[in-house]
Order: sequence, then C-alpha cells, then structure tokens
Amino acid sequence: MRIAVIGGLAAGPAAAAEAKRQAPDATVVLFEEGPHISVGTCEIPYLIGGRLEPGTDLVVLTPDEIRRTRGVDARVRHRVTALDPGRGRLTVEALHFGSTTEEPFDRFILATGARARRLGVDGEDAAGVFTVRNLVDTHAILRWLDTEPVRHVVVVGGGYIGLEMAEAMRERGLRATILDPNGRVLGNTVACEASDLMNEAVAAAGVAVRAERVTAILADDDGRVRAVRTDRGELVGCQMVVVSVGVEPRVELAQAAGIRLGDRGGVAVDDQMRTSARRVWACGDVVEIPRAPDGRRVLWPLATTARRTARVAARNATGTADRFRPFAGAVGVRAFGVEVGSVGLSLAQAEDAGLDAVATDVRHLSRTAAFPEASPIDVRLVTERGTGRLLGGQLVGAEGAALRSDVLVPLVARGATVRELAEDLDLLYNPPLAPAVDPLKVAASRAMRD
Ligand SMILES: Cc1cc2nc3c(=O)[nH]c(=O)nc-3n(C[C@H](O)[C@H](O)[C@H](O)COP(=O)(O)OP(=O)(O)OC[C@H]3O[C@@H](n4cnc5c(N)ncnc54)[C@H](O)[C@@H]3O)c2cc1C
Repeated sequence: MRIAVIGGLAAGPAAAAEAKRQAPDATVVLFEEGPHISVGTCEIPYLIGGRLEPGTDLVVLTPDEIRRTRGVDARVRHRVTALDPGRGRLTVEALHFGSTTEEPFDRFILATGARARRLGVDGEDAAGVFTVRNLVDTHAILRWLDTEPVRHVVVVGGGYIGLEMAEAMRERGLRATILDPNGRVLGNTVACEASDLMNEAVAAAGVAVRAERVTAILADDDGRVRAVRTDRGELVGCQMVVVSVGVEPRVELAQAAGIRLGDRGGVAVDDQMRTSARRVWACGDVVEIPRAPDGRRVLWPLATTARRTARVAARNATGTADRFRPFAGAVGVRAFGVEVGSVGLSLAQAEDAGLDAVATDVRHLSRTAAFPEASPIDVRLVTERGTGRLLGGQLVGAEGAALRSDVLVPLVARGATVRELAEDLDLLYNPPLAPAVDPLKVAASRAMRD
C-alpha cells in the first residue's frame, strides 16, 4: 500500500508516523512545499522575543530523522499541485529542480493546514510587514529586527498570537501598539470576556490597544513601511507591522479535486476524518471538526486538535477504525505576567450557538490567603440554564489560571453539570498551591444558584 501525506508541519508528520505505525509494510511519503517539516511553530514568538536562546532550533524532526526513526519518506520543497483520487495519482512539483512528476498512490491524507490571513489593504506588500506562520516568516522577522532601526511595531490583531508578538516586541525593548476593533485583547477565540486582568497587564506594560482597523499601510520611497492608516483617519508611525488576524484553511488542492467543503470553508470530514472523495482523509487546520458543547463543525486551528485529527485520519486510512470525539476547545496563553485558560464556549459563543446560557463570575485566590504570593483568579463558568450543563469556562490570573482550566476539559467534553464540579470532584488543596476550596469549585457552587 502506498500512502501520500500532503503537508508536513504538524498534522502531516503526525499522520505519516501513525500510518507507518499501523501499517509497517506500507510506503508512506510526506510532501512538504516548504524547507522544513515538523516545526514547533508555537514557540516562534518566544524565539523572536529572546525568551528562547537565539538560534534555538525549532525543528522537531528533520526529513532524515523521520525517515530513520519512523520509516517515513519525507520530501521537502515538493509541492503537490494536483490530486486525482479517482486515478490514484498526485502531481508533484519538485521546487528545487522545477520538474513535475505524477506519482501513484492508494490512499491520501490531506494536511495542507492554513495560511495567515492578510488584511487586503493597500501597501500590505511594503518591506517590514509580516505575518507569523512558519520558520521562513520567523527568519525574515528576525532579520528585519536585527538590521533595521525598528523602534515602534504595530501589531494588527489582539488574538493570542498578536498578544504573544506584542510581548515579544516589548521584551526586545521596542514600543508596541495593538490595533484590534474590539479595543481589547483576546476578544474572540481565547475569550477572557469577564476579566480585565489581561488587559490591565497589557496597559501596564506600556502597550496601547486601539479600537481601530487598518485601512492602508504607507511606505517610504524605498518601500519600507513607515505608518499605518486607520479607519479613524489616524496615521500611526512605525517601522514594522505584524499582521495577526487569524488564518484561513488551505483548501485549493481539495477543492480542485472536487472534495466537499463545509460551511466554514474548511474541508468537510466525517468522524473518521474521511472526506467526500474515496481514499482521501484529511486532518489538521484544514478540516472542520465538531465542538463538544453543541456539535457544530468549526475551524479550530490548534496544534492539539491537529495531532488528534491526524491520528484518527491515519488509523482509518490504514484500516484501523477510529473515531474523532468532539473537542472541548482548550486554549491558553501567558503574556505580560498574566495567564488565560479558556475551555469550551464563551457566553457570546454559546448565545451565538442558540443555547440558553448563563455566565457566573467569581474572583478567588490562587493559594490560601496567608501566602503573600496569593493572587486573584477570575473565573467565568458558562452553563446551560435549567440543566446546569457546563458549556465552557475561562480563568484569568497571574498564577494557576491556565492549567487549572484543564480541569474543565473532560467535563465540557462529556457534558457534565456544574453540580458535579461543585460537589463530586475533590480538587487538590495545599496552601502554597491552591486554597481549601478551589476557585473552580467556588464558581461552580455559585453557578448552581444562578
Ligand atoms: C505563532 C503561532 C503560535 C501558535 N501557538 C499555538 C499554541 O500555543 N498551541 C496550539 O495548540 N497551537 C498553536 N498554534 C497553531 C498550530 O501551530 C497549528 O494549529 C498547527 O501548525 C496546524 O498544523 P497543520 O499541519 O494542520 O497545518 P500547518 O502548520 O499550516 O502546516 C501545513 C503544511 O502544509 C504545507 N502545504 C500546504 N499545501 C501544500 C501542498 N499543496 N503541497 C505541499 N505542501 C503543502 C504547508 O507548507 C505547511 O507547511 C500556533 C501557530 C502559530 C503560527
């Protein structure tokens, strides 16, 4: 059996390795158009900010290593330009040589991921305007920072990557401004809708968050960025722009092969990660997957679910039945000394999903009050009115917030109630670690009364 895996960053290598594990006799070929496979992209902001030693290698596995240790034939700088599942053929362009060949395969796993969304405004091609998606972007950003007289960086988008990039710029001693129409950070995916702790920390670090959209990017005569214009008609001078306004799935290959897309524009898959085409499975940022609280299929571009969808796709592609169970949606970020953990739906998302939801907010301490290090944790639990079903929760605080939110993952995934959290679960108590009644349990008890 010959299996082709298309895309080699996170989902692709995971799928290829799992396919080889399940079917050791199969030939598994991984195609990646870029120069690397298997990169720790999530660490990029920390390399840029200097938290990681300069030169730290973010490549987890080289093509040689994946060949030696997993038996996967990895081909970098090979772009798949066409997929013909009916004939069992891939058209592959070897970017080094400029040659194009057709190769036969029995099964295909699409892991083409997502690309950083662009603003679509005039001037976006100016030198010094970057998106952050891969190591090629990272090296370009580092080169710009090392060689240009950068003093002020405009970060467009206050999501978790925008926030991490703004922190990285501050750590390099630069001025940073975030432009986000919400006028606050983490308004969307990493909902911290009930807490101001992160926004206060961002402001205290000297990063302004302006509720403005970029309408144009202006450059000097030599093509270097010098300012952004906003929808308020303001000009914000800068020597670098980081555009971090989300991602869009890379579906062109699937679409050209006649594979069905879902409502959100990603590749539609069933619970086995099977696409609408025979012999084609898909995984990672390119697919739409069901979220636990309401079963809605959405794009959820995170490495955690990329790996899990990859495993399911590879198992089914090699004949071992496996099913993707809806995801709880855990996402976290730590920046400017504050952490946020968010699981499941925010109140706004629950309402948007048509659920009759109610939010309960409490502030409680991270440790027992006797400890001077104890700091407030803001907890918001989102529950279904009437049933008490836990739909989601967000925790924000200087310590113990993000990982504590992981407690909610199995609860949200299986539709547990707040009563279970309040009354049946003994969360740990130890004075330097957590107070006698954990902030999550305090919130759950309150939610039972709301
Ligand atoms: C700065 C940053 C920080 C992040 N932090 C976190 C975090 O803290 N936690 C978390 O869970 N997630 C995080 N993520 C998200 C995570 O990196 C992605 O969810 C993950 O990379 C998705 O993996 P993927 O393989 O599906 O897609 P991608 O990473 O997009 O990889 C797809 C690959 O396919 C290749 N490709 C596409 N089309 C073709 C073709 N036709 N032929 C050949 N190759 C092709 C592309 O070149 C690309 O390398 C972060 C992402 C970024 C950018």
